[in-house]
Amino acid sequence: MSGLPDEMLDCLIVGGGPAGLTAAIYLSRFHRRVAVVDKGEGRLAMIPRTMNHAGYPGGVRGCDLLAAMRAQAVEFGAALLDGEVAGLSGTEDAFEAETDLGPIRARTVLLATGVVNLRPPLDAETHAAAVAAGKLRYCPICDAFEQTGKRIGILGADSHGVAEALFLRSYSDDLVMLTLQQAELDAGDRANIGRAGIEVVRTPVSGFDFEGEGVRVLLADGESVAADTLYAALGSETRNQLGEMLGTRLDGSACFWTDERMRTSVKGVYAAGDAIEGLDQISMAMGTAAQAAVTIHNDLRDRDGATDEGQAAGDAAWEEAPD
Ligand SMILES: Cc1cc2nc3c(=O)[nH]c(=O)nc-3n(C[C@H](O)[C@H](O)[C@H](O)COP(=O)(O)OP(=O)(O)OC[C@H]3O[C@@H](n4cnc5c(N)ncnc54)[C@H](O)[C@@H]3O)c2cc1C
Repeated sequence: MSGLPDEMLDCLIVGGGPAGLTAAIYLSRFHRRVAVVDKGEGRLAMIPRTMNHAGYPGGVRGCDLLAAMRAQAVEFGAALLDGEVAGLSGTEDAFEAETDLGPIRARTVLLATGVVNLRPPLDAETHAAAVAAGKLRYCPICDAFEQTGKRIGILGADSHGVAEALFLRSYSDDLVMLTLQQAELDAGDRANIGRAGIEVVRTPVSGFDFEGEGVRVLLADGESVAADTLYAALGSETRNQLGEMLGTRLDGSACFWTDERMRTSVKGVYAAGDAIEGLDQISMAMGTAAQAAVTIHNDLRDRDGATDEGQAAGDAAWEEAPD
C-alpha cells in the first residue's frame, strides 16, 4: 500500500476494520493527513456473508465490504499500511507509534483495534473452514435468522452461554448446550434453561468434526452430539494494550472508556468500534467511527484556534472521565 508517512499526521488510526476505515474516509474528506495501520486480523474479514448490514439485499461478503471501504479510503487520500502498531507514546499533538514499518508521528490517535473472540480449541485452518462454511458461528444477533428451526449447539455452559442460548430460543426449539469444562450453572440459570426446554450436556467436549453435514461434537465419554451449526459462546478479549500504554481508562468490560463523542480519558486519543462498550456490529463500528472522526477534526480545529467552543466541551469531557 502507500509508503510510510514521514510527516506529522493529523491522525494515526490503529486498526483497519469497518471502524478504522470509516474514520479514514471521513478524516481524509476533511482534508486531514491520515494513515491506517492494520495487521489484518479483523472480525469483518471473517464474515462469510453478512445478511443484516443495511443496504445489501442478499447480503455482502465481509471481505468484499472491507475491500470496498479500503478503496474508498484510498480514493480520498488515506494511507493504508499493512503492519502492526506495537507501542504508543507521547501526549496530545505529539504521539509516536512504534510499528514494524518504522515510527509514525501523529497529533491524534484513534484506537479501532476491535476484539478477539475466544475460540474453541481448533487449529487455524479447521477454524477458518468451519466459520466460512457457517458450521461455527460467533454472533446470534448477526446470523441466527438463517438458523431458524434448525438444531443449534451452544458451546459455553456458563451464564454467558445461557444468555446466548435463551436468545437463540426464539429461533429454534432444538437447542443443546455444550461445555469445554465441567461447569455448574447457578439456580437461576438452571431454572431459565429448564423453562425454555434447552438440553444441557454436562460431559465435557473433547473435539469437533466439521466434515459432512453440520457439526458433530465429540464428548469425553466417547459419545457425540450432532447439530446443524455451533455457536461459540466463550466470550471475547479486548485489544486494549496500546491504550494502556498511554494511560487510557477502561470501563467495566475492559473496553476503552469514551465520552459520547468517542474521546478516551487521554487528550488526543479516541476509540471506536468493538473496542468500546456497546453492540458489536458493523453498523455500530461505522457509526462510532464517524462520530470519532468528526470529534477529532473539530478538536484539531479548536486546538489550531479556529474556534474555542468545542475545546471547552472537550475539556469538560476529559474532566468527567471516570477514575
Ligand atoms: C463470524 C462473525 C460474523 C459476524 N457477522 C456479523 C454480521 O453479520 N453483522 C454485523 O453487523 N456484525 C457481524 N460481526 C461483528 C463485526 O464483524 C464486528 O462488529 C466489526 O468487524 C467490528 O469492527 P471493528 O473495526 O471495530 O473491528 P475489526 O473488524 O475486528 O477490525 C479491527 C482491526 O484492528 C486490527 N488491529 C488490532 N490491533 C492492531 C495493532 N496493534 N496494529 C495494527 N492493527 C491492529 C485488527 O487486525 C483488525 O484488522 C461478526 C463477527 C464475526 C466474528
